[in-house]
Amino acid sequence: MSLPSSIDVAIIGAGAAGLGAAHALKGSSLSFIVLEARDRVGGRGHTIMAAPNITFDLGCGWLHSADKNSFVGIAEACDFEIDKTLPPWRERVVATAFPQQERDDFLRALHDFYVRAEQAAHDGRDKPAGLYLEPGNRWNPMIDAISTYVNGCELDQVSILDIEAYHDTGINWRVRRGYGALMAAYGASLPLVFNCNVTLIDHSARRLRIETSLGALTADKVIVTVPTNLIADEAIRFVPGLLTKIDAAAGLPLGVDDKVMLALSEPEALPKDGNLRGLTFRTDMGTYHLRPFGQPCIEGFFGGRHAKALEDAGEGAFAAAAIDEIARYLGNDFRRKLSPLSESRWAHDPFARGAYSHALPGHADKRAVLAAPVDGRLFFAGEATSPNFFSTAHGAHDSGERAAREVLAALASAR
Ligand SMILES: Cc1cc2nc3c(=O)[nH]c(=O)nc-3n(C[C@H](O)[C@H](O)[C@H](O)COP(=O)(O)OP(=O)(O)OC[C@H]3O[C@@H](n4cnc5c(N)ncnc54)[C@H](O)[C@@H]3O)c2cc1C
Repeated sequence: MSLPSSIDVAIIGAGAAGLGAAHALKGSSLSFIVLEARDRVGGRGHTIMAAPNITFDLGCGWLHSADKNSFVGIAEACDFEIDKTLPPWRERVVATAFPQQERDDFLRALHDFYVRAEQAAHDGRDKPAGLYLEPGNRWNPMIDAISTYVNGCELDQVSILDIEAYHDTGINWRVRRGYGALMAAYGASLPLVFNCNVTLIDHSARRLRIETSLGALTADKVIVTVPTNLIADEAIRFVPGLLTKIDAAAGLPLGVDDKVMLALSEPEALPKDGNLRGLTFRTDMGTYHLRPFGQPCIEGFFGGRHAKALEDAGEGAFAAAAIDEIARYLGNDFRRKLSPLSESRWAHDPFARGAYSHALPGHADKRAVLAAPVDGRLFFAGEATSPNFFSTAHGAHDSGERAAREVLAALASAR
């Protein structure tokens, strides 16, 4: 679509939140448009074919809390097959790299850590989660590694109240054709303007004035869904300035998580949907999903400072690190069975600047601050504004629906 000069509601960003907001406005009499800086729908949901027979979700892949996940119904409506195979994180770990006895010890230490953090959170005072690691515990580096996968950062940067607020039903499914592909199908019927980078929102006059790389438009209401790092960096400038929002976004930074996909020759050598990890004395380690969906490949996942360092090292660094690590577990000969296909670099992506949000210690309350509307005209959505499903695609989607309801309520009360 081309950019209109005037609209009732402008939605900024065509990720899960923007799509959720747009669908929720569809039945209303309002005119609306989604302004997207990229040339595609989905934002941090992005599926590619890494090879003709290998589907790869560079961003979100798991339908977390699947029994409460709005994308499950969307997948059914869009005729996308859902795979309910249990995730390989606990089961199907390759025992030669991480023996059962050690794994049991580790899982006990991880459980005890969460119990200590949860008990500490009950008094309502926010602290860094890292304080609740048992001093000297042999599993601390690996517990920290799990934090880099879950939060995008090490435990010293995570609020215990935020950890406590996160809701996880423990049911995790996948979309066979890809989570990002599902988002693309879900967005296909919406009014979208691509390559439209919003740079400024002037809310000083009666109508909002929005400046973009394709020109300017005016709107009655705007729903902002861009990632927190862009708000904190003022990639979109508000006039007059919105210091409360910038401060809230800065307290909810995006951590770093990345994936790499390696092609695997002779795939029968490894179990379908297995897991490989084993550098248990280090936080700087990847975790490897073997043959996801039975495909002939290995998907590596990296988080936190380790992921950031590999991103900074440049294109190909994740693949090189993954092949080295897998060769440590499976023998040097295994190298010849692996070849790099693709990898993400989300912290270097100008329209994401990271993976997903965590609250810094002392900032767990900032999710509600970021979510609050301003002046009945500026509304905020995106995963970071979700009270309990933050950091996820379904949390983002539901936050978009919530912002759309706020727009409709604001209009109803003005009548
Ligand atoms: C490696 C990785 C793994 C993940 N795994 C999972 C998982 O398994 N399960 C899960 O539920 N979640 C997962 N996530 C998180 C999930 O992808 C995100 O929480 C969710 O997609 C965020 O949606 P959003 O709409 O809030 O933001 P985004 O998807 O970032 O959407 C915001 C949109 O705004 C656009 N935009 C930015 N700036 C501008 C601008 N100035 N003008 C116009 N448009 C702009 C962006 O291009 C983007 O399309 C993962 C993320 C990563 C990176």
